[in-house]
Amino acid sequence: MTLERDGVVLQGTGGIWQVRTDDGLTRVASLRGRLKQEATGRDAREMRNESSREQARPLKLAVGDRVSVSGEENGDSWTIDEIHPRRSQLARKRPGNAKGERIIVANLDQVLVVFAAANPEPHPRMLDRFLVIAEANDLAARIIINKVDLADHDAVRERFAEFTAAGYPMHITSVKQSLGLEELREEIAGKGSALTGPSGVGKSSLMNTLFPGLNLRTAEISDSVNKGRHTTVGALLHSLPGGGFIADTPGLREVGLWGIDPREIPSCFPEFRPLLDQCRFADCTHTVEPGCAIRDAVTAGDVSRGRYESYVKLRDELAHASADVW
Ligand code: GDP
Ligand code: ZN
Repeated sequence: MTLERDGVVLQGTGGIWQVRTDDGLTRVASLRGRLKQEATGRDAREMRNESSREQARPLKLAVGDRVSVSGEENGDSWTIDEIHPRRSQLARKRPGNAKGERIIVANLDQVLVVFAAANPEPHPRMLDRFLVIAEANDLAARIIINKVDLADHDAVRERFAEFTAAGYPMHITSVKQSLGLEELREEIAGKGSALTGPSGVGKSSLMNTLFPGLNLRTAEISDSVNKGRHTTVGALLHSLPGGGFIADTPGLREVGLWGIDPREIPSCFPEFRPLLDQCRFADCTHTVEPGCAIRDAVTAGDVSRGRYESYVKLRDELAHASADVW
């Protein structure tokens, strides 16, 4: 008897996808032939007609996608019959070329950016980069400062005040002392979250403590199944008991900024947004122009100088990157 189920794509390797169906089981599935053809057809149309790229979304399956699958109860070859519309996505972009976009995770509710209060020493300007990636993908970001047992609580709050001032929710946690964990769990349960941050800050410890049995970093099933012939597509998803998932994306920083349009950068700083239409020149770059509302706000102490300096640096980097491409 053929069963039909809905589920979420956990990982994909060489055309074989692992789908966690809503009954809590993981099915091995491949794309139905018709869906594959549609995917190819849309891509071809996009290549011919640049202007169609706004309407026609390339039908590339990604981890986090919701799908309908069918197959035999104990079968190991289920079929993905339908890909449900995406609510959001985290993508690696290519300037002016929607086809080159690579979707890292679909259907995210938020990006969790984890830093340590100490060991490793946090770099606020590196945190800016992670936040810009989230903003450029229209995703909410949540900051977690872990290992607060290694630092003074108030000093940590003070050090990261520029981020709460910019509007980011922040959690100060210690896995070691079980601090701030319950509040954080409530913000993660039932949602789709991308987990990122430098290595050694306690990302795995946090998630494994919040959700026992999650076994972050150990679910390398694809390697043994496929004997390393294919590389895993995108991130690896860990589904949460009771709904939602954690997508393990530690390398986000390396891939994420590449391809963001430099003109998008000002609006990737939420504290700049209310000021952007107040500059004297409509095409103000907020770097050298007179009458710049952003620079005035920095001088007045209303916008963090460090965050502003990150803006200038990122804008510079991205302007060079897109100049190389063109
Ligand atoms: P990840 O690379 O970000 O996943 O970091 P891990 O979870 O592997 O943790 C790195 C190291 O930090 C491990 O030795 C953990 O035991 C330690 N660690 C994790 N959380 C805390 C914490 O809250 N306080 C302290 N002092 N150490 C922690
Ligand atoms: Zn300006």
